[in-house]
Amino acid sequence: MSDEAAPKRSHGRVAVTLSAAPQDLMGGPPRIKGAWRAKVITLFPGAFPGVLGESLTGKALDLGLWALEPIDLRVFGEGKHRNVDDTPAGGGAGMVLRADVVARALRMADVGTPGRARWPLVYLSPRGRPFDQAMARRWAASDGVTLLCGRFEGVDERVLDAFGIEEVSLGDFVLTGGEIAAQAMIDATVRLLPGVLGNAASTEEESHSAGLLEHPQYTKPAVWEGREIPPVLLSGNHAEIAKWRRDMAERLTRERRPDLWARRGQPS
Ligand code: SAH
Repeated sequence: MSDEAAPKRSHGRVAVTLSAAPQDLMGGPPRIKGAWRAKVITLFPGAFPGVLGESLTGKALDLGLWALEPIDLRVFGEGKHRNVDDTPAGGGAGMVLRADVVARALRMADVGTPGRARWPLVYLSPRGRPFDQAMARRWAASDGVTLLCGRFEGVDERVLDAFGIEEVSLGDFVLTGGEIAAQAMIDATVRLLPGVLGNAASTEEESHSAGLLEHPQYTKPAVWEGREIPPVLLSGNHAEIAKWRRDMAERLTRERRPDLWARRGQPS
């Protein structure tokens, strides 16, 4: 799958080579060889692309700058009713996704992927390592990612162990399923891929890219309900503007996120 010889993800519009015939039959977005791909194992494939189909991520998806492959967990279920879950061993409330069912989906997802070094395998989980910008960058530098969305009480631990799945959390709260977390993480990753944001935004100066929160932003009108834009931003003095922004970013980070401020400059 990895495309070592090809220039690193320089697939802008001009570099796209499309084979129209099979594409038209499939009716999906164009597939660009080597484009970053997210495979998402879920009981709710209809939840995708969801918000990822909107705006810049949606346009990039339509252009084939990245690809999304929802994998319906139900298909791998047991018996006539395609059961995917059962009661927790040891008793207690709720249901647990079965190891054998999840394993079948994971094996299917594995087809056509390179090793883990170039394709993280992740279970979305509140027990996981918190997702952050460094992780988004790591994923964006991979060929793609496979995300397993849990539901109910979660997934049988044995399948997590057997596949050596990395657990990643969206934050210290509990969602009803992994789908929203998956979309959030895919969004954060896809916007780092070349060509996705275009000139619409820079990922170099924004919050978390240098361990700082972003400076405040302003736009027209120059005066709004008696509030002015800080004059330095209208001065045309680029050095002064850069200094003001840096100072504000540092001040905001110190005030709001002393934890980030303390970790500044350390490798993430
Ligand atoms: N009983 C589990 C929570 C299950 S919530 C526990 O206490 O740890 C159901 C599913 O939602 C999980 O399997 C997981 O895939 C997803 N989920 C819930 N909170 C999440 C979070 N903070 N980050 C990522 N995924 C989460």
